[in-house]
Amino acid sequence: MSRRWGKAERLDRLPPYLFVEIDRLKKKLLAEGRDIIDLGIGDPDLATPEEIIEELCTAVQDPENHRYPLDLGLGEFRYAIAEWFQKRFGVELDPDKEILPLIGSKEGIVHFPLAIVNPGDIVLIPEPLYPPYRSGAVFAGAEIYYLSLREENGFRPRLEEIPKNILSRTKILYLNYPNNPTTAVVDRKYLSQVVHMANEYGFCILYDNAYSELCFDNYKAPSILEVEGGRDVAVEFHSFSKTYNMTGWRLGWVCGNRELIAALREVKSNIDSGVFNPIQYAGIKALEIYETYLPRLLRIYLQRRDLFVTGLRKIGWMVNFPKATFYIWAKVPKSNSSTEFCKLLLEKSHIVATPGVGFGPSGEGYVRFALTTREERLQEAVDRIKKLL
Ligand code: PLP
Repeated sequence: MSRRWGKAERLDRLPPYLFVEIDRLKKKLLAEGRDIIDLGIGDPDLATPEEIIEELCTAVQDPENHRYPLDLGLGEFRYAIAEWFQKRFGVELDPDKEILPLIGSKEGIVHFPLAIVNPGDIVLIPEPLYPPYRSGAVFAGAEIYYLSLREENGFRPRLEEIPKNILSRTKILYLNYPNNPTTAVVDRKYLSQVVHMANEYGFCILYDNAYSELCFDNYKAPSILEVEGGRDVAVEFHSFSKTYNMTGWRLGWVCGNRELIAALREVKSNIDSGVFNPIQYAGIKALEIYETYLPRLLRIYLQRRDLFVTGLRKIGWMVNFPKATFYIWAKVPKSNSSTEFCKLLLEKSHIVATPGVGFGPSGEGYVRFALTTREERLQEAVDRIKKLL
């Protein structure tokens, strides 16, 4: 009997993994014992704050916390999020209806289209992109319409150029600022325009604010829920991953429009059983220490940013100082493609960076560095790049 099962067609709708060759090269060099400086993945090298770890250790001792969590999450956790959100953005959220804990924000980002998209609906996705936006849309059977992010437009999509027949079938617009990978930021005025457009055409906005706290030079990232009408059309994703060096813990939340939150809750209650309670208690602790802890983290990233960007500029690579995120989005300094340049960087300088084209065609010509390593190593990277250029 020939077998009837195999990979589903929807998986073939996801593009092939573009970093295969760079990964292979990296493994080969590591096996040869080369000293690799990895600025590839946006995964902080710093430790989760001690207070958060202690809170987890205490909570995990209580057998009450070993049971299934509630799908809505702990009331205390949602109240702590509401309180933090009010202090940070001046927005009052109903902890029971407008906040839902997530197993990392990626989980909610990918599941959301399942809650509101019907096959054939259009999802607008800016690119270069954080790939899970595409996965979620593909899994839900959506049609994707890509919006190109270009430097001359401040890496913002030109929404006014989207054809009306596309807008009339659009269900979702994904937006992410501070942006990965371009590091672009926006102000409230821009968010107001987007909200206005969502109202006009009847789509909703999934706003990814995963880097909201990693801001420099007196810039503070806004929430889309701050702008008038925001919560009528938008939900916003937040993450503990980058703010508290908790990528492995898998903790985030989504907040905003209550109908959208209720729809996602319905999907999630059929898929997962919530976040382990001790991790939610650790999340409460993280929000409690936010004010004293965050400046320490920002000082570290600011020093890394200044060292790396100043270093590159001194050797003639005119890279911009990003106002947010821990990435550097740099124009490829030679006439190579972004993939060729990253291969060269790895082969000759033993530095891992991500080719812009891996995030979408509009990322071609750029390379992304993640500043997730110590200053000495960043200085060493600059010295090696100097030799290369
Ligand atoms: N959104 C963006 C733009 C990201 O870059 C990331 C992680 O790299 C996430 C969301 C997901 O974060 P997490 O699932 O760890 O909360």
